[in-house]
This record gives sequence, structure tokens and C-alpha cells, in this order.
Amino acid sequence: MTLAHGRHFQAIPGPSAMPEEVLAAMHRDAPNIYEGSLIDVTLRVEERLKAVARAPKAEVIIYITNGHGAWEGALINLFSPGDKVLALYTGRFARGWADMAKALRVGIEEIDFGARSPVDPQRVEDALRRDKSIKAVLMVQTDTASSVRNDVLGVRRAIDAAGSDALFLVDCIASLGCEPYEMDAWGVDVTVAASQKGLMTPPGIGLNYVGEKARAARKSAALVTPYWDWEPRINPSVFHARFCGTPPTHHLYGLDAALGMIEREGLENVWERHRRLSGAVHAAVEAWGGGGSWELNIPDPAHRSWAVSAIRTGIDANGLRSYCDAELDLTLGVGISLSSGAVGVRETGMFRIGHMGHLNPPAILGTLATIETAMEALRLERGAGAVEAAAKSLARA
Ligand SMILES: *Cc1c(COP(=O)(O)O)cnc(C)c1O
Repeated sequence: MTLAHGRHFQAIPGPSAMPEEVLAAMHRDAPNIYEGSLIDVTLRVEERLKAVARAPKAEVIIYITNGHGAWEGALINLFSPGDKVLALYTGRFARGWADMAKALRVGIEEIDFGARSPVDPQRVEDALRRDKSIKAVLMVQTDTASSVRNDVLGVRRAIDAAGSDALFLVDCIASLGCEPYEMDAWGVDVTVAASQKGLMTPPGIGLNYVGEKARAARKSAALVTPYWDWEPRINPSVFHARFCGTPPTHHLYGLDAALGMIEREGLENVWERHRRLSGAVHAAVEAWGGGGSWELNIPDPAHRSWAVSAIRTGIDANGLRSYCDAELDLTLGVGISLSSGAVGVRETGMFRIGHMGHLNPPAILGTLATIETAMEALRLERGAGAVEAAAKSLARA
């Protein structure tokens, strides 16, 4: 018999858990889209979005789309066919973004840092010194497949050290609202994000944060299309021109509630909570690894994401995941292939724990203890004391 009952628990890296407060804010009839509260909420959401990315000077573009749409929005506003972009691969997601650029006939120079290590800024500097025609550098802060966190400021410094005036584009879809990020202070020209991860809102909103230099580059981009065009959204003739049509009404109310929660908790406290909760996951996996083949995909603790952990199992992890799902009411994230093949291929020797957004110690300890229960039921070899290690890690202030 299954022990599943009540609210099914998800520990996947997006869509993440949705707070009651967000759901309640969305539970309403269609609002007036010409005047009234929706306009006030939208203006507040824009200000709160700037705060969460530490981007007071940027323009925020709110698209009705997912992360992939936000990727395309950024690309078509900046480039023309034949432009050259340097893409930095540390798993899966920068590759997916660069593949989209290739399909738009943008030239991609790639550096692959492998599946288990971060971007090395020195290699970025060297590549930019060698090739002065590179128009932009594209990277992800947190790669959700490998669970590496890259050094965004380090890459900014590499661009400067090379004397390059390349635009700097960063995908923060998995990391915004989870890991420290400072768009303006770190000199990022375009930040891409989405609603359904650290921002705790259903999928459906994709974001482009546009700095001054990126906005200027938009003027000469030949790829611009009407729907994705930043300019009419930055200077809307009427309210709904910000959205090139009907606004994402309910998502705006939900996102406003989520951003209000982040504001109340304090952004730095939100980051610190993610750091500590992820530390519990890392401690547990290290304990499992003491007596079995389990290990974190990212060996260097300084580059482990605070939002998601990819775990190498050494065995086929599908049995573990399905046992957790069917018997114990816990959905774990699938492993995503980290080799250079097609996007979306599953890696059976891995699984992922999402620890982003609306999360507290019972959620994390419950997830880890539930995995431990499944391992015990399936007689999987592992080191002892993982849940205790997680508890100790949380208890250390
Ligand atoms: C989830 C994710 C994406 C893709 O977002 P979708 O909403 O699924 O299109 C892109 N980049 C990163 C880093 C992600 O975590």
C-alpha cells in the first residue's frame, strides 16, 4: 500500500512550490485591463522586480511566455544575422540558449567548461583578447542541469580586462530570488528570468531586464520582431502596449504577492535561507556518499547552487524516483543529460532536488528523510547519518 495522502510534495527545480498567498492573490475574476488596480499592481511589480535583481537602472520587460521565450526576446532585440556571440557552457542551459541564437543565424563561439565545473573567467578573457569582433557574452548564473553557480562578477571583470565592449547577457531563470545577484553593480547588460522558480509564481511570465547599453544596441538589431520588441513596451502608448496586448492579469497579481513576500522577508535573508537550506542537502548527500556511490555533481562547495542540487547516483535513479513518487508522495527532479547531445535527454544516473523559492526546514528535512526512506526500502547502499548531518548543518547558525 502507498503512504501517499494529502498534499503531494514536489522537490523539482521549477515550477517550484506556490505560496498560499500567491494562489489567493490569483483567485479572482477578470480585472479591468484599462484602469484601476491592475495598473497600480503592474507598476509596483516593475519596481519590485528591479529590487529583486538589484537593477534600479534597468527597464523591465514582462512577457507572457516562459524562460525560452525570454531567451528569444533578448536575442532578437540585440543581434543581426552574422553577429558573433561567445557562449559559456557549464551543463545544459547556456547551450540551449546558444542553439536558439544559432537558429536565428547568430554566430556562436563556444567555450565548454564541462559538466562539473564553473566558468573560468580567465579563459573568457583570453577568448575576448583573441577575437575583438565578439559582440556579446552569454552565460547562465545557475545551470539547473549541472547545478553549478557561475561567477557573474568574475566574467564581468574578464570582459573589462580584455578591453572588450561586448554586451553581457546572463540567464538568472533558476537563480533570481535564490542566489545573490546584482545586475547593476556587476555590469550586466541583459538579465533573463522567469516567474516559476525563485519567484514562486506559475510559469507564464518571462522577463528581460534591459540596461542602457543593451537598449542602445537594440537600435541596430536586424532581428527585432513586433511582439518581442522592447521599445514599445518601454514607451507604451497605452497601458496594454507594455504587453503587446492583453496583460497577464492573474500572473501579475500572483507575482506581486510573491515579490511582496520577498520584500517582507528581506532579499538578503531570502538568499541566506537558500544558502542554509542548500547546505543541509549538500551535507546529506556527502553522508550518503560515505558508503555508496552517491555524490554531488559539483565537487567545489563554492560553486554549488543554492537553488538546485544535481546528484550522481552511480546506479539507475529511476527506481528511486518512482518509489518516492508513487509510495511516498514526493516528486524528485529527473537528471538532465550533461553531454553535448540533444536538449532534454534524461540522464538515468542522476536526479535533482529543487530547493528554490517557498521552502523551509520541514520541507528540506522531509525531502531528505523521504529519500532516505526510499533508499532503505529499496536496499540501496549508502553512508549512514544523512538526515542527522542535514539537521546538524541547519542547526549550525
Ligand atoms: C528553467 C530554466 C530555463 C527554461 O525555462 P522555461 O520556462 O522552461 O522555458 C532556462 N534557463 C534556466 C537556467 C532554467 O533553470
